[in-house]
Amino acid sequence: MESRSEQFKNDIFEISAEAGDARSGVLRIGDTELSTPNLLPVVNFYAGGTDASLYGGGIHRTIKEFMNGDEVVNGGDYSRYFDGVMTSVASLTDYGISRERYEDYISEPIRERDVFDFDGTLFLDSGGFKFLGDSRLDGSDFEVEVDQEAIVEIQRKLGGDVLVNLDRPIAPDDDYPTRVEKARLTAQNVDEFLNLTSRDDTRYLTLHGYNYSMLDTFLSEVEKVIGRDRVHREFDGVALGSLVPLKDNKEKLITAVSDCREVLADWGFEELPLHVLGISSSAIPLLAAVGADTFDSSSYIHSAINGKYDTSLYNSEPVDDVDFSKCDCQVCSDDVLVKRMEGDAEYQKDKLGAVAMHNLIIQKEEIQRMQSAIQSPGDGELISYIEQSLGREKSMQQHAHRVVNESLGGYF
Ligand SMILES: [Zn+2]
Repeated sequence: MESRSEQFKNDIFEISAEAGDARSGVLRIGDTELSTPNLLPVVNFYAGGTDASLYGGGIHRTIKEFMNGDEVVNGGDYSRYFDGVMTSVASLTDYGISRERYEDYISEPIRERDVFDFDGTLFLDSGGFKFLGDSRLDGSDFEVEVDQEAIVEIQRKLGGDVLVNLDRPIAPDDDYPTRVEKARLTAQNVDEFLNLTSRDDTRYLTLHGYNYSMLDTFLSEVEKVIGRDRVHREFDGVALGSLVPLKDNKEKLITAVSDCREVLADWGFEELPLHVLGISSSAIPLLAAVGADTFDSSSYIHSAINGKYDTSLYNSEPVDDVDFSKCDCQVCSDDVLVKRMEGDAEYQKDKLGAVAMHNLIIQKEEIQRMQSAIQSPGDGELISYIEQSLGREKSMQQHAHRVVNESLGGYF
């Protein structure tokens, strides 16, 4: 029997507290530290544009200005909300950029650029979700063939702290043979991914499935291709994908994450950090309660683009109806930014960018409350947190009861 330290040589995750299946700890990657559970906002570092415009236009640019504490957004320090961010290689393919601009964009690691004041943990997704449905990852705009090799090259050039293999997400209506085939194709990428990277990199393995048997099958297919030894030794974390099409079905999301934790435990991966790709807002407390460690989402931006100002993880108001004095977040406490949200802004991005930042703060503060609940002794704090937050939302009650019963030993 190998010792734990041999099994997890690249030990980046230290769990310091548990409440039921929920856990809280620290992810240490390179010289960055991220406390968990945590939400990584999706930041689009490119979003069209040039170096002079912070590589970005529209609302994405405003987000980067907040990240930088730029004078343009009145100079506040928002860096704590960007302690970790997710960006996707696929964001490059959303824009018809030229080869020249592409080369320019990937020419320097993101954290080393003067235009971004960012020193948090950078997760670099592979963009595999682009394979969902009929769309495919297409690098033709900049004449780069997008395969596993190209993805690793881009991830490295952008200076990602966490690298994720190129994957083939499943869709809810895929039949069994299709799911197995996608697992097999993903496994081939995983094999190549491991050959192109080393133990010095922080590598997350993608898993896809909605329940125990699907996830176990997926892992078995990976094992068939790369071998038992490598599946057990090479990864620092696991990223659970394919859940975005289920995002409105809390029941299925809870099952997917709690079954995933069960599969990981049965495979001996219990202590690897578990990242849930693309899920946020109201699902976070439920999924953290059953053992998810990190999340990423762009919902803070999408809500804002749709004119939605979040009042909690579960509710929002049309931005034009909001009484900003009711929120004490940093954005809503800033008169200049409030004026913009009230409509006194030259461009829509100045109004909605501030709303997006407020939305992100709402999500980040909520997950911080969860962290402290998990960290306090016993399960009581977490149960009462779930009661007081989710338990008060009618649409959430049954899910809140389920996670308390299944993960936290039920009510007193
Ligand atoms: Zn606010």
